[in-house]
Amino acid sequence: MRELTYVARRTAEWREAPDPVLQSDSDAIVAPVAAAPCDVDSAILAGHGPIPPPFAIGHECVARVVDAGESSRFSPGNLVVVPWAISCGTCDRCAGGLTTHCTSVPHMAMFGAPIGGSWGGLFSDLVRIPWADAMLVPLPGGLDPMAMASASDNWPLAWRLVAPHLRARPGARVLVIARGSIGLYVCDIARALGASDVLYVDPDPAHRAIAEGYGARTAAEIEPVHHGFDLAVESTGRVPELVTALRSLAPEGFCESAGNHFRPGELPLLEMYLTGVTLRVARDNVRAHLPQALELAASGQVDPGRVVSGVFDWEQLPEVLPERHLKPVFVRADQPVGR
Ligand SMILES: [Zn+2]
Ligand SMILES: [Zn+2]
Repeated sequence: MRELTYVARRTAEWREAPDPVLQSDSDAIVAPVAAAPCDVDSAILAGHGPIPPPFAIGHECVARVVDAGESSRFSPGNLVVVPWAISCGTCDRCAGGLTTHCTSVPHMAMFGAPIGGSWGGLFSDLVRIPWADAMLVPLPGGLDPMAMASASDNWPLAWRLVAPHLRARPGARVLVIARGSIGLYVCDIARALGASDVLYVDPDPAHRAIAEGYGARTAAEIEPVHHGFDLAVESTGRVPELVTALRSLAPEGFCESAGNHFRPGELPLLEMYLTGVTLRVARDNVRAHLPQALELAASGQVDPGRVVSGVFDWEQLPEVLPERHLKPVFVRADQPVGR
């Protein structure tokens, strides 16, 4: 089989690798049917990531099970979401919902980057999934695999950045400072869950048009809005934007950052103290809340498919992935996306 391998700045190529095989009764082998880059992949492909190439890239896909161990609840043909982080489902951390901090694997174990061991990427023809029953989540009926290719990471991350806050503060005012798909998904989910105001800030006019379609106000850039928002979401990976988000919060406001700030910077800690803000910069324990996030997707109250910026053939991955795209989705002729 082949793995799409990030080899140098703006360059990816297919490399041959042995077909994965079941290594235990609880493994599954899957074939991605609709895969997409995470927002952070564009920074990696631009050469800004912390890990030197080469490595198999990709950690967002809907996949079809092609083989499953005897103890697995899955069967060949099942359509599943593959969470980006590896988790066993039974250690203390997994049991407590901290599935990206699973103690059964090296810390940071994930698809698409060789940080906590090598688990391959999801732009590969085949992928071995350990602890399949714990890892994989069936794609709910009625959901389009192409619209939900980011259900591994960016879509449920967006749900986690905003949904629990709107539950705690109904009608909250939400500021979104973003560059890629995550902020747009946040706009969609925030509006669906009753935010009274959503301001989306992004210099890209095409991104702003999608946000406006989701009912958000938009701006290319802003100065901090004093006490303007109950919740601020930053997903740019840039510290100055994070500072603007923090300085726009109302007293006791909450700032959620999608992280991946590859460069250091200073935060306005005294101002944060005086306003009483809470900042969370955290990798997402996606597996723990994925079922709830998919429930919202399946409800029809949201429309993640609007963020898909193009559908491409699997064979086009090496040429298209390094280009600038909001959310290209790659599908394959040998694994139809239909059920
Ligand atoms: Zn990601
Ligand atoms: Zn675990």
